[in-house]
Amino acid sequence: GTKQGVTLIGLGPMGRAMVRALLAAGHPVTVWNRTASRADDLVSEGAVQAGTVADALAANELVVLSLTDYAAMYAVLEPAAAALDGRVVVNLSSDTPERAREGAAWAARHGARYLTGGVQVPAPLVGQPGSATFYSGPEDVFEAHRATLEVLTEADHRGADPGLSQVYYQALMTVFWTTLTAHLQAQALVGAHGVPAAEYLPYAARAAETASSFLPAIAADVAAGRHPGDEATLAMCAASTDHALGAAREAGVDATVPAALAALFGRGVAAGHGAESFTSLTEVLRKPAA
Ligand code: NDP
Repeated sequence: GTKQGVTLIGLGPMGRAMVRALLAAGHPVTVWNRTASRADDLVSEGAVQAGTVADALAANELVVLSLTDYAAMYAVLEPAAAALDGRVVVNLSSDTPERAREGAAWAARHGARYLTGGVQVPAPLVGQPGSATFYSGPEDVFEAHRATLEVLTEADHRGADPGLSQVYYQALMTVFWTTLTAHLQAQALVGAHGVPAAEYLPYAARAAETASSFLPAIAADVAAGRHPGDEATLAMCAASTDHALGAAREAGVDATVPAALAALFGRGVAAGHGAESFTSLTEVLRKPAA
């Protein structure tokens, strides 16, 4: 049978990879991008370039957005908002959960059905097995378009609240950026002492496995509000983060990340959690800093 046509707006690295995945799966694809020339090679590969945003919206019921953020969505769609009526807009742009909810309400006011999504893989993995996207929004809308969306990545619908995809996505981005930055920081530290990154690498990999192995116990303790300090205390952990900060300063590398950690752990001790375990820091993390 004929495959569902898709309109794709936003031809950054992600949007371009999505267009190629859809074309490869036999879907007709209409594209639009602010910088029109970014469509040139995609047109030669079979995509149709719309002359205006309104034409792009008119071309297909299913409209996928791959833009930098929600401000870009308004910049692109507001001038053509009348053409949103009856469309299914799937916004795969990253932003905060609240902006995702506001965007869903805005689209609904213009007569569009709306899903949000957070793609968990970089462009080269779009269209590949093992890739995944968090979706949220009305389940019936997701189910109706699931097969086409699964051409892009595996699709994981987290719930009806349009903010949920960004809750999961930004939570994992927090893990992603802090973890990778921690390794860059560690490489700067060992590098300042003449240790090549390759020599540090196996230890970094083992530390990542150890950290993963702690996750179930941490989740259980946090859920139970149970922070026994019998094996290791937060006071000891705070001393440890102070030592890591001292090592960064001694080495003359940037100390922003270790200083932030040491400050956070110190606040946990100051709040009276010194004799409890590391997980008691959750009490500090659940509210903004004073
Ligand atoms: P880019 O930021 O490179 O893509 C931007 C697209 O948004 C371009 O088409 C750009 O148009 C358009 N754009 C930005 N601002 C405006 C504006 N004010 N008006 C009109 N168009 C605008 O993003 P990526 O393709 O890398 O990623 C897209 C989304 O996917 C982002 O939200 C990103 O966080 C997320 N993501 C990215 C990953 C990656 O590895 N790249 C991985 C997972 C998710 P123009 O070409 O004219 O500049």
